[in-house]
Amino acid sequence: MEITEKTAVQAQPYAYDYTLEEWQEWIAANGEPGFRAGQIFEWLYVKRVTGFDEMTNLPKTLRDKLAQEFDFVTLTEVAKYESKDGTVKFLFELSDKNAIETVIMKHNYGNSVCVTTQVGCRVGCTFCASTLTGLKRNLTPGEIIAQVVKAQQLLDATGERVSSIVIMGIGEPFENYEAMMTFLKVMIHPKGLNIGQRHITVSTSGIVPNIYRFAEEQTQINLAISIHAPNDKLRSKLMPVNRRFPFADLIEACQYYVAKTGRRITFEYALMGGVNDQPEHAEELAQVLKSFPMAHVNLIPVNYVSERNYVRTSRDDIFTFQRILEQNQVNATIRREQGSDIAAACGQLRAKHMESGAR
Ligand code: SF4
Repeated sequence: MEITEKTAVQAQPYAYDYTLEEWQEWIAANGEPGFRAGQIFEWLYVKRVTGFDEMTNLPKTLRDKLAQEFDFVTLTEVAKYESKDGTVKFLFELSDKNAIETVIMKHNYGNSVCVTTQVGCRVGCTFCASTLTGLKRNLTPGEIIAQVVKAQQLLDATGERVSSIVIMGIGEPFENYEAMMTFLKVMIHPKGLNIGQRHITVSTSGIVPNIYRFAEEQTQINLAISIHAPNDKLRSKLMPVNRRFPFADLIEACQYYVAKTGRRITFEYALMGGVNDQPEHAEELAQVLKSFPMAHVNLIPVNYVSERNYVRTSRDDIFTFQRILEQNQVNATIRREQGSDIAAACGQLRAKHMESGAR
């Protein structure tokens, strides 16, 4: 099935849009010595400058050429919310005035950043605020990268670093696949932000062709599948994407991924009161996932979505669901809630912002 990737409106590339290899090509095409590419990359990701003028070991002529041909991504902070648990959520405005969300989460093992990959989303999951107004456009690689650089710049003040990344913000990353891969290449590059591959997780709603594609990429990056239902019928109700890529095809793609990569998949399961959280759902899910030797289910008690009227699963039902999975040898954890006091769930801040007439 065809996957369309709407191109972003962009006059010229952003400095963050290029991998090191692409910088090497650009440098060669411009007749500059090869080592300049590494210098530019270091200024961008190690020294984290915000303008070409600051790249003081580059000749002035090269700095001028860079400034003529590239822009820096501007992420204008529209709002910043800090939770009692240390979670910080940002609403940023892009140069075209579209708004995106980025979250920094504090864990005992380090700081994690949750990035947005699209302005809005067309996938239409019924429990998600990000999709309420559809997809506006894809982010460029640089606009995704800028979110992590910005987070790192903020953490620089306290000598901390971004130690992990989750691609679980607004958007379906597998519908902006090329940009996502460029983002990942820059994130994991030893001369870039040097984030360990196993500390990065990409989450998809189940864009089947790109699960096969990702299996061929030979990375150590974690894959999470938003499954949210144990069968085709219920999943189609909750996630319209299931009508494009049916449940059986999704499971087959996941089995291929595991066989090809030898890596486990995390299955995300958002529990919605009375909808998909009953013991029979847990039993059915366990039967589906039993065929995965290392399957791991991450249970997410869903936040109340006013537009959808979903309610929270009770504490007892959450634990019952988990117990049934584990009794069937399917490993399951319950996601620790972060930032619930600041509407940190995907798309909630942007939705509120748009209600006030913004984009
Ligand atoms: S949950 Fe993710 S894929 Fe589904 S609508 Fe929201 S942003 Fe899109």
